[in-house]
Amino acid sequence: MARPACPACSDNFTVERVSALYQAVTEDPDRASIGNVDPDEVIESFAPPAEPRPIGRYLLIAGVAGLAISLLSGFTFMWLFIALSIGIVTEMMLYWEHLQARDDLQRAMARWRAAYCCSTHAVVFFAREPGTYSPAQFARMVHSPAARTDTGSSAPSEPSPAGGALSTR
Ligand SMILES: [Zn+2]
Repeated sequence: MARPACPACSDNFTVERVSALYQAVTEDPDRASIGNVDPDEVIESFAPPAEPRPIGRYLLIAGVAGLAISLLSGFTFMWLFIALSIGIVTEMMLYWEHLQARDDLQRAMARWRAAYCCSTHAVVFFAREPGTYSPAQFARMVHSPAARTDTGSSAPSEPSPAGGALSTR
């Protein structure tokens, strides 16, 4: 597929896929900047979206803890049973969240693959879509699809009320 033209320069001469730029920089970390894009910025902003955490962690932790308590309490395996029950309930509660995270990842991945960068103007854009994004804006779009995690650059320092749902205050 032909590279789309950069909205800023109406030319595709310095346009490259974001994914290709990221790959080029990770394979050659010593390279000089690409146009007006800093390699560090490529590493930071153009990285592919992260996989959600695998499920089963809490069950594993609960199983190990339960087994340890069982052995320490003189083979009282009721503790293992209780710990595993807690682990299973926790996993079930997190499963829906996990499915949503996978959904978000697929969307973010599609966005990441479809993104182009004009290295002359240091802008990210999408073919057949108006508008351009700075690398930092693009990173926020791809790395936090639900816009839950803030990088601390633009958000105020006080914690948001929505983020306090899991805290034990
Ligand atoms: Zn351009």
